[in-house]
Amino acid sequence: MANKMNPELIKQAVTMLLEGIGEDPNREGLVETPDRIARMYEEICGGAYQDAAEVLEKRFKVDSNEIVLEKDINFYSMCEHHMLPFFGKVHIAYIPDGEVVGLSKLARTVEVYARRLQLQEQMTAQIADALMDNLQPKGVMVMCEAEHTCMTMRGVKKPGSKTVNIVTRGAFTEDEKLQNLFLNMLK
Ligand code: ZN
Repeated sequence: MANKMNPELIKQAVTMLLEGIGEDPNREGLVETPDRIARMYEEICGGAYQDAAEVLEKRFKVDSNEIVLEKDINFYSMCEHHMLPFFGKVHIAYIPDGEVVGLSKLARTVEVYARRLQLQEQMTAQIADALMDNLQPKGVMVMCEAEHTCMTMRGVKKPGSKTVNIVTRGAFTEDEKLQNLFLNMLK
């Protein structure tokens, strides 16, 4: 997990950033901005101080090990290359091995990994690995589709373009039928 968050340091840094871009940090609209941003980061980067193992601690026994899919889990994260938001949807499927977690816990696991400076591919893999490590299912498949504001509001400026990636673990990795089942369930 990350080191401790330091709101005072964030405030100083934002003040310097404002000066750096030629603003007057003391003008009316900006006076509270460093403080506001420091508080904001506690929320949007707070996932770095949370443990997915705790989120996934409570599990329930099941008799049938049918595929479970939770789709359209909305998330907001921050690209670590530009510190700009990327956001979209995560779809998670897993095949239990005798145990499941509450569905809300899948969304909370996404939050843990989204609320930090992140890379989309890394976030998707971390979600899949957290489920494999804590729930020990037969397999996991996670798809993430996201719009990166570092691509759409700057740089190549392609609004609406999405980056899609898929991570498979366990039974999903080799089994094309299972992968297709997941993709069909998303339609
Ligand atoms: Zn970026």
